[in-house]
Amino acid sequence: MITRVDERLRREAERYSFRFGCEACMAYDPDRRACAHAYPNGDHLDVDLSKVEKVVFCKEFEVG
Ligand code: SF4
Repeated sequence: MITRVDERLRREAERYSFRFGCEACMAYDPDRRACAHAYPNGDHLDVDLSKVEKVVFCKEFEVG
């Protein structure tokens, strides 16, 4: 799912320590910087909300 990033989202993400990227997902393998479920993860890695205007959420994300 693609979501537009605006100032409100940035503020709330900071306030509530919002996690959505692979780095916070139980399926993330940090040694390989890859998804253990073999999904392409280029859109979900190293996302800096202060620098992007949209984010692509992974439907398989599960906080780890
Ligand atoms: S399931 Fe999705 S969010 Fe989790 S590591 Fe794989 S690509 Fe990233």
